Amino acid sequence: MDHDTLLHWSRRAAEWALTYHQTLRDRPVRSQVAFGETAAKLPSSPPEQPEPTEVIFDDFTEIVPGAMTHWQHPRFFAYFPANASPASMLAEQLANAIAAQAMLWQTSPAATEIEQVMMVWLREALGLADHFTGTIHDSATTANLSAVITMRDRAMGWRSVEEGLCSGPRLRIYASAQTHSSVDKAVRLAGIGQANLVKVPTRDDFGMDPAALDRAIRADIAAGYKPAGVVICSGGTSIGAFDPVAECIAVAKAHGLYTHVDAAWAGSAMICPEFRPLWDGVDGADSIVFNPHKWLGMQFDCAVQFLADPAPQIRSLGLRPDYLQTFGADAIVNFNEWTIPLGRRFRALKIWFVLRAYGLDGLRARIRNHVAWAAELAGAISRINGCEIVTPPALSLFTFRFRDDASTAALLEAINDDGRIYLTQTRHEGAFVIRVQVGQFDCTREDVMTVADVVTEISQNF
Ligand SMILES: *Cc1c(COP(=O)(O)O)cnc(C)c1O
Repeated sequence: MDHDTLLHWSRRAAEWALTYHQTLRDRPVRSQVAFGETAAKLPSSPPEQPEPTEVIFDDFTEIVPGAMTHWQHPRFFAYFPANASPASMLAEQLANAIAAQAMLWQTSPAATEIEQVMMVWLREALGLADHFTGTIHDSATTANLSAVITMRDRAMGWRSVEEGLCSGPRLRIYASAQTHSSVDKAVRLAGIGQANLVKVPTRDDFGMDPAALDRAIRADIAAGYKPAGVVICSGGTSIGAFDPVAECIAVAKAHGLYTHVDAAWAGSAMICPEFRPLWDGVDGADSIVFNPHKWLGMQFDCAVQFLADPAPQIRSLGLRPDYLQTFGADAIVNFNEWTIPLGRRFRALKIWFVLRAYGLDGLRARIRNHVAWAAELAGAISRINGCEIVTPPALSLFTFRFRDDASTAALLEAINDDGRIYLTQTRHEGAFVIRVQVGQFDCTREDVMTVADVVTEISQNF
């Protein structure tokens, strides 16, 4: 394939994409294929000879869309959204065409400088204090890992960077049980170990209890451990729990600990000033992550980490071997030194396009609608026979159950086999519950209220 052929097929792909998106509501949201079905359609060995693009494209339309779960479906209410707005898709196409590797300023000055400006725009959009700078990671998992590694090395007086962990004290990291599993993964990968991630008890609202945090830190110090940092949950994945950020940071600071706020999902909502009390005190954090790829339409992958001071993280993650030196420009930023992989995609372009194409007002209107519709839907579900709201809407996320665990699980399966909507589950205080999150970029109130219709209809058969 050459670039002239690419032009032809890019047009065909764009036309295909338009039809795909216009007819998404006719498709089941969750894929309905069996495990192994797709693999069985592919030859077991690669072709020796080139194949015509026509054939490749036909196989794509034949095999792939029917075996996908449609994340851009307006009735996707599972997990959290992975929103891709049209403006984001356009930016990704252009970044894709240039196909740069943005590891250093000099390898792509526009990518680095647009990223720097976008971090300022997003900081302002979220109402964060102007001492924060930021960078873009692939995922919140990587940002959480970066923050935990920084906590580790800072607590070790940076000796760990050279000597590893063997000679040091046993480190402790603190988080609530509502914290995302990527924090568990981070302590494992950072060599701190799962047993040294202290799950601090929560209050009645499932936010971390700051007094319990203080007690846990003191007990650990008395027992000879070295507390390193606190990961604060601002919008948990399971039920949308919010730790009291200001109080938790105050406790952490009193003990000299590093603080990281995981707002992967809920951070996007902070473009609306009325939701900011949920993370009151966030300006005191050392690090904050949120995923524009979840709720702002800047498609996967796009995780933004704000840093009060990037120096500690660069001290942990930044390496500058001879072959990566940039001569004659001391003030420049090489973002690979802020993040784990050396290679970086040009992710800032989609932030730039989306913020301009919809404006903050357009993005706020979507989030406000989602929050309002989630409340309306929770009301409607609470009135369905046998259904009970287990956790009320936190922003646009709530959970419900139907009679008991077994009936709830069976109802969920029947709903997803039906295909009109897609919901997933979690466990809350031991109970199997169905999660509903409203957040797809172009969903309508009607799409959202369809959930109540489907649940009513299907639960009647039980
Ligand atoms: C989704 C989520 C993550 C993980 O995000 P990735 O970008 O997929 O790694 C981490 N924390 C919270 C609170 C989340 O909701």
